[in-house]
Amino acid sequence: MDKAVLVYGIGISGCGAAEILARGGKRVLLYNDAEHEVNADLKELLAKNGGQIVIGGGEKLLDEVKEVILSPGISLENPLVQEALRRGINVTGEAELAYRNYNGHIIGITGTNGKTTTTTLVGEMLATLSCVSKVGGNIGMALTKEVETMPDNSWLAAELSSFQLETIQNFRAEIAVILNLTEDHLTRHHTMEAYGAAKCNIFKNQRPEDVTLLNFDDPIVKSWGGLVPGRLCWFSRREILPQGIYMDNGDFVIAWEDTKEVICNKKDLQIFGGHNEENVLAAIGAAFFAGVKPYDIAAVLKSFKGVEHRIEYTATVNGVPYYNDSKATNTDSTIKALEAFANGHLILIAGGTDKLTPLEEMMALVKTKVDTLILLGEAAERFNEAAVKAGVADIRRVKSMREAVELAHKIAVKPQTVLLSPACASFDMFSGFPARGRCFKEIVAEIAAAEEQK
Ligand code: ADP
Repeated sequence: MDKAVLVYGIGISGCGAAEILARGGKRVLLYNDAEHEVNADLKELLAKNGGQIVIGGGEKLLDEVKEVILSPGISLENPLVQEALRRGINVTGEAELAYRNYNGHIIGITGTNGKTTTTTLVGEMLATLSCVSKVGGNIGMALTKEVETMPDNSWLAAELSSFQLETIQNFRAEIAVILNLTEDHLTRHHTMEAYGAAKCNIFKNQRPEDVTLLNFDDPIVKSWGGLVPGRLCWFSRREILPQGIYMDNGDFVIAWEDTKEVICNKKDLQIFGGHNEENVLAAIGAAFFAGVKPYDIAAVLKSFKGVEHRIEYTATVNGVPYYNDSKATNTDSTIKALEAFANGHLILIAGGTDKLTPLEEMMALVKTKVDTLILLGEAAERFNEAAVKAGVADIRRVKSMREAVELAHKIAVKPQTVLLSPACASFDMFSGFPARGRCFKEIVAEIAAAEEQK
């Protein structure tokens, strides 16, 4: 029997990869450490080529394996992966597999924060072109499945995490974007250097004619300028650049070779905050190099309302607005959210599964922007200590999201704002950040409805 391809991980990307490989006639072992639901059609498809689902089993299995495709959730340090590497078996990931099966143009977007917002914006801008375009990657459907039906002259905006980039081999983004790099995922990458190196893989296979857009305002990203093999285009919201995408008095400007165009002003946007200005600059650049007309870029920017769970306006109760930023799963994104509310007077709901990153910078900002800090979840104790140390005066502890929102509602008065921006993952209490955000919004909606009855 032919040696098999082992696809490690039964999630969106693993199932997508297994399906595409099996449809291409490959014998696939779809492998997972623990039992996992797999739909019957996929099982049947795998069986057609002698493949199957395998739960656990370990190294012996590798005797019949010629390649391993990792899901983003599987670390290169995993013992089975280490053994595969030791045996000289090729180990790669789902992004690479998608690349092998796609002849169109790719825009790769990465960074610690802002990927989904930027990718969504780029996707909407690409949709104004006359060719087929899609978004994919970390953002939903498996890349492999996404590209399956896309013609050669199409554009794909791919949101790429460091885990996906860690395993690429020949994957080439004609346009690459790196938004920022701050501490996150260190339990997996261990050091900032390793985390950064994974991000830099996004441009490693670029040709001289390709473009990399880098954030001039992020010190770590800025230091990578010399590594870019293609054309380097900076973007900055703080400096007017001789060439690049930048802001001038609130105007978003493209200055590149003989192009000098003002796209629109930040007052025209419906999303706010300095971090979103960076996302917008990056999206403008990516779309511009993909050939989207400045007029169309501007139209998308003016109508874009943001992505759910990212500083999402929820409701106003008794003159107090509520915002859901459940996607803020690390301290940097919470810092950006706090900065986005220029007038402060926030009632901040934070906490969840602790990522153990330093809290000094965030708590210093909490002290200046937040009137009341409401803490919940596993991280509450450590966050509490850091907040006390930073001199935050009003700290409350609660046990559930309901308690948190009801407390916020009880104390909030105009001109305060209630913000859920946890700076933590959600798995201690929820299935993920979307469930956490929905829970917050439902409780806010209930409170709003009850207030209306009064
Ligand atoms: P990602 O897909 O990288 O997680 P999102 O667009 O989903 O990024 O945003 C995640 C969180 O990070 C949001 O809570 C948002 O407030 C914050 N954020 C968005 N863009 C940026 C940015 N450019 N820099 C820092 N934080 C950001």
